[in-house]
Amino acid sequence: MTKVVFFTDIKKLHKAFALFSLQNYAGKKVPVKLHMGEKGNPYFVKPELVKYVVDELKKAGANPFLFDTTVAYHGSRHTKTEYLNLAKLHGFTNKNIGCDIVIDDSGVSTLVEGRTFMVADHLKNSTHIFALSHVKGHIQSGMGGAIKNFGMGGVTKETKIKIHDGSYPVYQKDACTFCGVCAEVCPFQAITVSGESWEYTEQKCFGCSTCVDACPFEALQNQNADLQFLLACSAKACIQDKNVLYLNELKRITKGCDCDPNAGPIICPDIGYLISDDPVAIDKASLDLINNIKENVFKKINKIDPMKQIKYGEEIELGSSSYQLITL
Ligand code: SF4
Ligand code: SF4
Repeated sequence: MTKVVFFTDIKKLHKAFALFSLQNYAGKKVPVKLHMGEKGNPYFVKPELVKYVVDELKKAGANPFLFDTTVAYHGSRHTKTEYLNLAKLHGFTNKNIGCDIVIDDSGVSTLVEGRTFMVADHLKNSTHIFALSHVKGHIQSGMGGAIKNFGMGGVTKETKIKIHDGSYPVYQKDACTFCGVCAEVCPFQAITVSGESWEYTEQKCFGCSTCVDACPFEALQNQNADLQFLLACSAKACIQDKNVLYLNELKRITKGCDCDPNAGPIICPDIGYLISDDPVAIDKASLDLINNIKENVFKKINKIDPMKQIKYGEEIELGSSSYQLITL
C-alpha cells in the first residue's frame, strides 16, 4: 500500500499536521516521543522545534508531554533523575516547552512475532502518540529514524539489552573455511582470522549482524535474531493499534547517533522535514532523500546497511516502504 509522506520546511509543518488530521488528537494525553540528547552531543532535536510541535498539539486540543525512556548503559540518561537533569540542561523544561517532561523505566510485556518486548508504560497506555525523530547515522543499525526511535527508545532497559545481546554472533567451527570474509566486513575489528584460527573479541562487538550476513558458509548465526529485525519488531510492539503521527527531522545529519557524544562529522547537508503516519514509509523516504544527495552514505560510513530495518519493517507489517512524496 502506497503511503503519503509530506516533505516541507518549518513554515508549512502545520499544514502537514492538519492534512493528517491532528484535530483527532483533541482531548487526548499525547506522549511526544523523542531523544533529548546524550551529554556532549550537540545534534539532537532542538527545544525550539519541540515547542513548535507541542504548541500545534495544544492548538489541536491535545494535552502533550515530552517522553523518553532511560538507557541501559551507564551514561547521563541511565536513571530517571539523571535523564531529567540532562533534559533540563538541554533546554527541555516545562517553562521552555510548555508541558511536562516524563522519563519512564517501567514497561508492559507485549508479544510481536513470537517475541516479548517490554513497552514503556506511557506508550502502552496512550491511544495517540507523536513521534519526533532526528534522522542520523548509527553504528549498529546504519541509520536511526522513526523505527529506531521506538525500537530502542520505546522499551525498557531489559528489552534494550535483549535486543543488543540477541544479535551477537554464534560461531560454528565445523562450517568455517577460514575465508576471512567476516573479519573483513566487521566494522569494529572484533574478528581476526589467520590460517586456521578464528578469534572473536566480544568486548569489541556491537552486535550489528554484518558478519552473520556476510559469511558465505553459514558458519555464523545471530544468538537470537538480527538487530534490525528486533528493532522493527520492538517498534511494532510500541505502536501497534495506536494513532501515531511521525515527524522526521533531516538536519544535522551525523555519522553517529544522538546517544554518542562524538556523533560527528555531519555527513549530508540539511534537507528539511518529513511527516507521515507510517514509520516505514517515512524512514524509507528519509533514506532515499539522503541517498539522492550522498549515495549510500550511511552504508559506506558505518559499514552497515540501514535498508534492513525498512525491509524487516515491511515484512512484519510495521508499515509500507512504498510511498508518495508530496512537497508542500
Ligand atoms: S566468513 Fe564464515 S567461513 Fe569465513 S572465516 Fe568467517 S565464519 Fe569462517
Ligand atoms: S556482529 Fe558486527 S561488530 Fe560483532 S563481530 Fe559481527 S560484524 Fe563485528
